[in-house]
Amino acid sequence: MDKETFAVGVDLGGTAIKYGICSSSGIIVEEFKRPTRADQPVEAILDDIAEAISSAIKAAQGEQLTVRAVGMGTPGAVNVETGQLMGNTPNFKHWKDVYIKRSLEARVNLPVWADNDANMMAYGELKYGAGKGAANVVCVTLGTGIGGGIIVDHRLFRGSRYAGSEIGHMSIDYNGRQCRCGGIGCWEIYGSASAMIEHYRRLKPESFIASTIDIFNAYDRKEAAAVAVVEEEIRICAVGVANLINIFNPEKVIIGGGVSEAGDWFVARIEAAAINLAMKAATREVTVMRARLGNKAGLLGAAAFALDQEGHA
Ligand SMILES: [Zn+2]
Repeated sequence: MDKETFAVGVDLGGTAIKYGICSSSGIIVEEFKRPTRADQPVEAILDDIAEAISSAIKAAQGEQLTVRAVGMGTPGAVNVETGQLMGNTPNFKHWKDVYIKRSLEARVNLPVWADNDANMMAYGELKYGAGKGAANVVCVTLGTGIGGGIIVDHRLFRGSRYAGSEIGHMSIDYNGRQCRCGGIGCWEIYGSASAMIEHYRRLKPESFIASTIDIFNAYDRKEAAAVAVVEEEIRICAVGVANLINIFNPEKVIIGGGVSEAGDWFVARIEAAAINLAMKAATREVTVMRARLGNKAGLLGAAAFALDQEGHA
């Protein structure tokens, strides 16, 4: 392996800015977190991010490590060449059309690369996690919503205006419910963590379930409502994953996000059901597996992406 290099990875979320010193071999040397002031003007958020990056650079210097680049994942669509956010993103009041790359480069004096957060997570899993060595990969994040990242021929697929890969908004029911995106019957309405909790509360209005972990625990006890919700979730996700298999014919479908923490058995059940539904020619080489990097995928992916763009990988 070539000499190890280092980058600062940043994962901008609605509640926290997570950042850390990451190595080209996929190790997080040190990681940090600070609250996101999502209601503040753009300049204040950029100042916060720049301050975070500078403190990470300083920490790296303290360990005799040279930071070569900065990679950042943000919600929303990003023009990866110019590093500009395209339009806005929910949860942030003013975070709209921001020139992330050049605004941060002016503040931290290092090359900065920005992309959509789900893309950065997919890149992390491709480089260091479950997607290692594969050429065609679809990453599905089953969280509050359903997000995704798609790798075609070793490269992130972004679409013509950087707004692609919204796999959670693939319709699985044209007679279905209205989605906040404007579509009807989107996968996310039925298969997200929020949808599971809502479904459970419909069946058991008196319950105090707070997370999908609670539902899976009740499932282990064979509680009827939990069994109904989890079995339905497997059927829903199998439809979504089968659609992705038919379209992309990937080697790997990687399932991450909070719901996937139920365990390998849950992902294996989705795999079996999806393979049943998908076209035979597309299922010959496919494996559906759990994400490996958990909530570190975004940081590691952002750092790796920046190092690769700068030729330091
Ligand atoms: Zn939708």
